[in-house]
Amino acid sequence: MDSFDPGQVAVRSGHFIGGKHVEEGAQKLQVVRPSDGVAYASIPVASAEMTDRVIENAWSAWRASGWGQSAPRERASVLRRFADLVAADAETLAPLEALGSTRPIREARAWDVPFTAEGIRFYAEFADKIGGDVAATDHDHLGMTIAEPYGVVGAIAPWNFPLVMASWKLAPALAAGNAVVLKSSEATPFSVLRLAELAVEAGVPAGVFNVIQGDGHTTGDALVRHPHISKVTFTGSTRTGAAIMAACAQSGTKPVTLELGGKSPQIVFADAPRLDDVARRIATAVAGNAGQVCVAGSRLLVERSIADDLAERIACIFAERKAGATWSHGTTLSPIISAAQAARIESIVRRTVAGGATVLCGGRRAEGEWGGAFYSPTILRNVNEQSEAVREEVFGPVLTLQTFDTEEEALALAQHPDYGLAAGVHTADLGRALRFVRAIEAGTVWVNRYGRTSDFMIPTGGYKRSGIGKDLGRQAYEANLRFKSVLIDMRS
Ligand code: NAD
Repeated sequence: MDSFDPGQVAVRSGHFIGGKHVEEGAQKLQVVRPSDGVAYASIPVASAEMTDRVIENAWSAWRASGWGQSAPRERASVLRRFADLVAADAETLAPLEALGSTRPIREARAWDVPFTAEGIRFYAEFADKIGGDVAATDHDHLGMTIAEPYGVVGAIAPWNFPLVMASWKLAPALAAGNAVVLKSSEATPFSVLRLAELAVEAGVPAGVFNVIQGDGHTTGDALVRHPHISKVTFTGSTRTGAAIMAACAQSGTKPVTLELGGKSPQIVFADAPRLDDVARRIATAVAGNAGQVCVAGSRLLVERSIADDLAERIACIFAERKAGATWSHGTTLSPIISAAQAARIESIVRRTVAGGATVLCGGRRAEGEWGGAFYSPTILRNVNEQSEAVREEVFGPVLTLQTFDTEEEALALAQHPDYGLAAGVHTADLGRALRFVRAIEAGTVWVNRYGRTSDFMIPTGGYKRSGIGKDLGRQAYEANLRFKSVLIDMRS
């Protein structure tokens, strides 16, 4: 589990179309390494015309290859092979992932790559196990539903976990028999190209899984609007999700899965068992990936009697985090994705402090000589509900602390007016935990833990402006199918 030399990582640029690397695109976008701010490669931007062509080719490849009509068992075995190849490719994939993203190499090896492989294997197992149904009908009739793929699914991914987020989109879509055209984030475009190579090596027909590069307004917009895209799956910001939903409505009332932003609370009662463990969970939930996590538990709501003690323990755990380049084995505090995003974090903290908040720890850039932007894990106290840091998704390692005296007060603080992605409740009282589970408006509620492990069967997705539909679980598989109802009169 060593560090690696960023200069030694071979990066393939371009798109992956029809089973081949393609370099087409007059306009180029520079890609910057977050760790040191170096522009280390560029990508071509797929124009709207090119994007149309790629989708038409994917549609033709999907029909000609028979991927959607193939025996589900065969699709399952191709995808199992794909998962095996991904797992065995960690020595290539992990440095590629770490090089240009915010993912430290140690985590990329231990989590991102194995988790990507496991996700693909999870959906391989669905391919031949979930299909249609025979419906209850009277003696003279037969009713059934047939599960059919959409055709070509348009997938758009964010930059914060490039491989894992892409796999949550492409694995259920391919398992259900669709072709996929994926646009990865222009900030982290390369590791997914390796994934596409491995898909073809595993036996996914050329042209059934394609990656196109480009920005959102040109390439992403053309992708979601094309008439041969009959389903769109997106992970990213709430603002972009709304634009994509509008584009889908205008271009054929297409179904969308939207995994969007959040502002998730972690509620801690004084009876929470093992306060040291609680502190560690809370710290990890907001400092992991430097807070650049959709479900970051960025609002700490704590019973007044233990607030000082808990804050102190969290601050000590924050202090253990070591900022550094993602290619260094010792790094435990990720860089911020870009200088612009780091400046945004700084200005939100500055305005919240100007509004009366107190900085308990952090509140500034992390020191160091790496060239990229790093932000120290921060606790802000004396914030009120209207503070920017309490209301807005900061997407940085910034934890706000609010206190409560009663369960009712805690619940009122926990509900966010707009977001409803996730929440954590820490208490020894099971009844109280379950009351929160029922009352909180959020797509996921964790009790005495926070964050995902490899529980793929549990879907993820938001309430309110945090999204529509689910990634993972049976739900994500079924969202990549449409169900045809058939009723047969057997008397004729
Ligand atoms: P973003 O919305 O800026 O971009 C996401 C993707 O959308 C990129 O590939 C981008 O090129 C593309 N895009 C931008 N405008 C587009 C348009 N008009 N049409 C089509 N595509 C367009 O998000 P980001 O900054 O890459 O990611 C961070 C955000 O993602 C955060 O808000 C975070 O909460 C969210 N996120 C959510 C989940 C979840 O599961 N809910 C998971 C990870 C990240």
